[in-house]
Amino acid sequence: MSTEALRIVWIYPDLLSTYGDRGNALILARRARQRGFRVEVLEVRSDQQLPTVADIYLIGGGEDGPQALGAQRLLADGGLHRAVAQGAVVFGVCAGYQLLGASFFAKGTQYRGLELLDISSDRGPSRAVGELAGDIDARLGLPPLTGFENHGGRTRLGPGAAPLARVTHGVGNDGATEGAWRGKLLGTYSHGPALARNPALADLLLRWATGAHQLPPLEDTWADRLRAERQAAVAATVRP
Ligand code: GLN
Repeated sequence: MSTEALRIVWIYPDLLSTYGDRGNALILARRARQRGFRVEVLEVRSDQQLPTVADIYLIGGGEDGPQALGAQRLLADGGLHRAVAQGAVVFGVCAGYQLLGASFFAKGTQYRGLELLDISSDRGPSRAVGELAGDIDARLGLPPLTGFENHGGRTRLGPGAAPLARVTHGVGNDGATEGAWRGKLLGTYSHGPALARNPALADLLLRWATGAHQLPPLEDTWADRLRAERQAAVAATVRP
């Protein structure tokens, strides 16, 4: 982490912000400030160069066209690769998750991804839309993931990436696993402001970025209540 402030970069809000993705930057900044960190949030548009010195990079969801354009610009920019080589944390949501991998499909065409995560995405048989829930990789020590998903792609993990969660409801990568992580890179199909619904995941990213083993607990009753409510709701749903 920098000696100055914790620097959070939101990548390409002009392309990859279909689902309120700004919420992830807001949640991270607020939870860091509540622990006494000074925080700077930088929004970097797709016509700007990506700074390489930030601590956390956020990439949001998007439709196929902006997703393909975003991946091409990030490849041409090269800044995210340099930041990752320097130990930056990356959090990708949906389109932003897919484009971290080797390849993905957009509008029927296969595009090259950033090859930062050992994943690749294909077009699925149907669009995955609805509640998404899963038990997170025990090594991360987090409560179950909950969220909402809306994507056409399906994602295969190579040996270099571990699933973020085992799906208990919804589709995620392929109906069995959801998301992926390696080192300080993490991606999920849990939509938009996923960190608002999963504050423990936000704290994991903050711990990775700051090197802190633990962060003082915050009042998260609202998120716990929402998780319990959604889990009860999906348990009551009869699968077609
Ligand atoms: N365009 C991608 C897909 O449909 C990602 C969608 C999204 O970000 N929600 O799979």
